[in-house]
Amino acid sequence: MLAGLFLILGCKKAPEQLPVVDPLAFGGELDGKKVELFTLKNEQGMVVQITNFGGRVVDLWVPDREGRFTDVVLGYSTLDGYLNSNEIYYGTLVGRYGNRIGNARFTLNDSVYTLAANDGINHLHGGVKGYNDVVWDAVQSDEKTVLLSYLSPDGEEGYPGNLQVNVTYELTPDNELKIEYRATTDKPTPVNLTHHSYFNLKGAGEGDINDHVLYINAPFYTPVDGGLIPTGEIAPVDGTPFDFRTPMAIGARVNDDNEQLKYGQGYDHNWVLTTPSGPGLTLAARVVEPSTGRTMEVFTNEPAIQFYGGNFLNGKDTGKNGKVYNHRGALCLETQHFPDSPNHLEFPSVILEPGQEYYSICIYKFGVE
Ligand code: BGC
Repeated sequence: MLAGLFLILGCKKAPEQLPVVDPLAFGGELDGKKVELFTLKNEQGMVVQITNFGGRVVDLWVPDREGRFTDVVLGYSTLDGYLNSNEIYYGTLVGRYGNRIGNARFTLNDSVYTLAANDGINHLHGGVKGYNDVVWDAVQSDEKTVLLSYLSPDGEEGYPGNLQVNVTYELTPDNELKIEYRATTDKPTPVNLTHHSYFNLKGAGEGDINDHVLYINAPFYTPVDGGLIPTGEIAPVDGTPFDFRTPMAIGARVNDDNEQLKYGQGYDHNWVLTTPSGPGLTLAARVVEPSTGRTMEVFTNEPAIQFYGGNFLNGKDTGKNGKVYNHRGALCLETQHFPDSPNHLEFPSVILEPGQEYYSICIYKFGVE
């Protein structure tokens, strides 16, 4: 009974007392590499646990307006849970290319590259075995930071070039989960790294996210075809259900009679951000959960963000604490370059050249109102 109450209300507890996931449940080996679970904490009591299997955020404990901590990301409390899941991207890093590449193919410097087709005829999130599915090398440098690295070999899932990828997860004193991505290559290659936490600010498994109020700092979005590949058009959001420049409940227009919403089975699109003219990050999106007061802001140096409303969650996965993950039970906000950019020369380039360093940053900042 008491345990049940905590699950519903969240826990007003010191971080060391939060019912976090037991790192022993992540002991084991995959692909001959040791899987581990790392625990990051900050002075405000926030806790995030990250496994080097896929660079997943396993849980993320965030206070509400009464100071009660709740875990706001979907996931599992054991490695086995992730290995047996229907949805394979809960909390993961995504690469070498986040989102889709049409017909699983692109041309670069006159060579045609054929990628793994793992989403119908298209390529999604780096292929059959993307960065979500590999064991990263990991070092926890201090209480707030873990560094993950992976050498993605030339030809992996069809991509050219050995890509050395280094990702830092840091929990800052300002209740931010800061993710920094760096990569270098020995051949020109497309790179588009992102993060795939499924957030529900009421708490993981607590109903749907239709009542979350969303702001997206974007006057345009990239409409898609039935396979969710951009048509190439950069369309104004003005007068459409894609206009989130005034904060709006996600569910308010999700069932509107709109072709794009039909293609996505809801929101599953790329918004083109208003970026600052000088240095500094863009506030890409802001989410408010009215009943708990929790807020989440997303900052990035990327030109776009994928807002995915959990349309393909279907109640088949039972995650931490026996919670069922139902239709639209969580949302993803994935900072990125545009989907299918390798096939759209008019989109900002995603090609990394030897001698260059790829750098991307995404900050999820939590607060209350
Ligand atoms: C995509 C969805 C896809 C999901 C998979 C999202 O980033 O936009 O179309 O189904 O990832 O988990």
